[in-house]
Amino acid sequence: MESKKFLLEEKDIPTAWYNIVADMKNKPMPPLNPKTKEPLNPEDLYPLFAKELVHQEVNQTDAWIEIPEEVREMYKIWRPTPLVRARGLEKALDTPAHIYFKNESVSPVGSHKLNSSIPQAYYCKKEGVTNITTETGAGQWGASMALAAKHFGLDLAVYMVKVSYNQKPYRRSIMQTFGAEVIASPSMSTRAGRDIITKHPNYQGSLGTAISEAVELAMQTPNCKYVLGSVLNHVMLHQTVIGLEAEKQMEMAGEYPDVVIGCFGGGSNFSGISFPFLRHKLNEGKDIRIVAAEPASCPKLTRGQFQYDFGDEAGYTPLLPMYTLGHNFAPANIHAGGLRYHGAGSIVSQLKKDDYMDAVDIPQLETFEAATLFAQTEGIIPAPESAHAIAAAIREAKQAKEEGKPRTILFNLSGHGLIDMAAYDQYNAGDLTNYALTDEDVAKNLADLEKIIK
Ligand SMILES: *Cc1c(COP(=O)(O)O)cnc(C)c1O
Repeated sequence: MESKKFLLEEKDIPTAWYNIVADMKNKPMPPLNPKTKEPLNPEDLYPLFAKELVHQEVNQTDAWIEIPEEVREMYKIWRPTPLVRARGLEKALDTPAHIYFKNESVSPVGSHKLNSSIPQAYYCKKEGVTNITTETGAGQWGASMALAAKHFGLDLAVYMVKVSYNQKPYRRSIMQTFGAEVIASPSMSTRAGRDIITKHPNYQGSLGTAISEAVELAMQTPNCKYVLGSVLNHVMLHQTVIGLEAEKQMEMAGEYPDVVIGCFGGGSNFSGISFPFLRHKLNEGKDIRIVAAEPASCPKLTRGQFQYDFGDEAGYTPLLPMYTLGHNFAPANIHAGGLRYHGAGSIVSQLKKDDYMDAVDIPQLETFEAATLFAQTEGIIPAPESAHAIAAAIREAKQAKEEGKPRTILFNLSGHGLIDMAAYDQYNAGDLTNYALTDEDVAKNLADLEKIIK
């Protein structure tokens, strides 16, 4: 292994997040009230979210939003993160391409999610909130939120998707060790949970359902707010620290990426790595490709529809403009739990619609093959989610080889997989499969969507 690292110092941690919406010609369409179908006012969101986060959510004018000093202080626990040239992987692929990855797996919880949980907890605390609720898929967001909540003295309840609760018991332990309460979803503790258990007793849960439960609890608990780990504009905003650091580090390396890749669940790590680079495309017409890598079993960007849809299964959230598979879409139980979400955030959806970015969908087995090669050549076992970005990077590197041309590839390693070894066990035993979706599977839930966008 002969990888090369590009390191920044604490003083290089960004002092402001980048708000791409300020630079977009076509702004994302507004969230709608599900009853009246009228655009929501920011005040409509105050009962659910901290006010400052709502303001960030709707901010379309300020390209830069200052990072509070208390947040930057906490970022210093693990930021800046390394940028690494993956020479071992390049060699194994015998490719003329240069492959770089931003290593977000070095955070205390092993993923990028802490970049947003810290500011979200901070703004809740500042507003005098005492309790927060959230959902988690693979447990990465819940773990990040648990650590941030404890730091700012908030009580946290986490609804964890049941399949992950059972497959990934150690993430539950991590959340509990940080002091959070964890409930498997669907649960009997909410109406949304009881409804779905009654209809489908063996339902293994989805992020959409877990969101419904967390929102319901937040609305019924005094002095309680709900926090979300992806999809929303303010989450994309917080994650831009990834790309802003990477931008400086690519300069240190003396290169500029031809293609920037992130795996895609709701879009937060993808936005984090790509938006700062996309700003060169938006503002200076720079020629750069941005690629989202999603699972073939949950292909909202490649096969979904651009339409208003709910963010959750029960339909409690506002209607958001998104590429969606329909809020009732029940994804296969793939190991990349963090990518099992039916929709893409509004900003990314608008950028995709306007052709500023591409998306690819990748079958499960290819992701584990890529993850194994990456582990063996770079010494880091990637999260199954991140393996989608690695697989997409490998496709790019192979293409560069076929063309006999150089290509500079940057991808985000969103997390490590050390708590996902059960998934690797199954892969190594030959027990994993691909889940092919037919066009009928994709069309089924979309048919029920009200066509608000004609
Ligand atoms: C949650 C998670 C994802 C997917 O979420 P995004 O918001 O799409 O980034 C990807 N990778 C890891 C390691 C995660 O924990």
